[in-house]
Amino acid sequence: MAKNVLVLADVRRGKLRNVTYEMVSAAHRIADGGAVSVALLGKDVAALAAGLGDFGADRVYVVDAPELEHYTPDAYKKAFMECVRAANPDILLLAHSAVGKDLAAVMATRLGAGQVSDVIDIEGSGDHLTFTRPIYAGKAFTKVQVTEGVVVATVRPNNLPPAEGGLGKAGQVETLAVTFGPQDLATVVKEIVQKTSSGVDLSEAKIIVSGGRGVKSAEGFKPLYELAEVLGAAVGASRGACDAGYCDYALQIGQTGKVVTPDLYIACGISGAIQHLAGMSNSKVIVAINKDPEAPIFQVADYGIVGDLFEVVPMMTELLKKE
Ligand code: FAD
Repeated sequence: MAKNVLVLADVRRGKLRNVTYEMVSAAHRIADGGAVSVALLGKDVAALAAGLGDFGADRVYVVDAPELEHYTPDAYKKAFMECVRAANPDILLLAHSAVGKDLAAVMATRLGAGQVSDVIDIEGSGDHLTFTRPIYAGKAFTKVQVTEGVVVATVRPNNLPPAEGGLGKAGQVETLAVTFGPQDLATVVKEIVQKTSSGVDLSEAKIIVSGGRGVKSAEGFKPLYELAEVLGAAVGASRGACDAGYCDYALQIGQTGKVVTPDLYIACGISGAIQHLAGMSNSKVIVAINKDPEAPIFQVADYGIVGDLFEVVPMMTELLKKE
């Protein structure tokens, strides 16, 4: 049976993140003839609606308001609920980002819906949907079906099949007016500090160069940044490196850090503790550089280099520069 699907566009610094297109394409696949809608919430975001029809959106609901400049649960819930009323969805898809995770829980409670978190695959369509999600810190996968009511799912970036454009759907834009009251007006009283590893968004990066305690100092990260620059990669880190003060916690990958799924993950001086693997073991290709041949990271690596990262990494950078 046809299902209406509503996708919450994931907006970061005035741009749509790739996961938005991945979710809209997935919505088009699973709707089984139902309507695919996108909720676009924020300040000065209306222009981002253009082009979503090409990825399968029948309709884009826009709530463009100064109150939505920064994420606050109350204002966003109110705006998103307005889109839900308009779209009447059976399935809501949100990114498995800080905002998506927070809002999904709020919406699932509000709608009495079944929630599936951190989805990496969706099989089937219409009434027969199976969501795959990692469990036990990525050691196993579970398949989940929601057998009745509305479904709210958060989708891990970079996992669903790449977005396919060229669908030429209407992508009709409808602006919804939402009035915010004092109860919705939690505001950001300090500034929002953007911490990026190298100008490339870590959770959406196609290539990540990651450093661990083996990097030995903040200065030791320099060759990793140089390699990342040549590759157009983001720089990540283990918690060991963050705890040691070599880099900011915004770079931490793992169970209590970011979960990433790049095409290429280069682990430099990282031992491969289970908590680190939880955040990166689903990377498509893993290269490990470690001077200890027994390091557990080699068990998950596709390519292992036993050596000193301070020799290997600059060598890789030089070779790649010559390409
Ligand atoms: P180490 O384990 O010290 O490894 C350093 C490696 O560098 C070694 O293998 C060594 O051989 C190699 N090395 C040293 N010098 C060189 C050199 N010159 N060239 C090449 N190799 C070299 N960790 C995370 O990463 N992310 C998490 O989210 C996370 N969450 C956690 C949550 C909990 C509840 C707990 C208890 C722990 C968590 N940890 C997490 C910590 C985790 O258990 C490890 O302590 C941590 O990942 C180790 O970091 P590391 O690999 O950088 O350091």
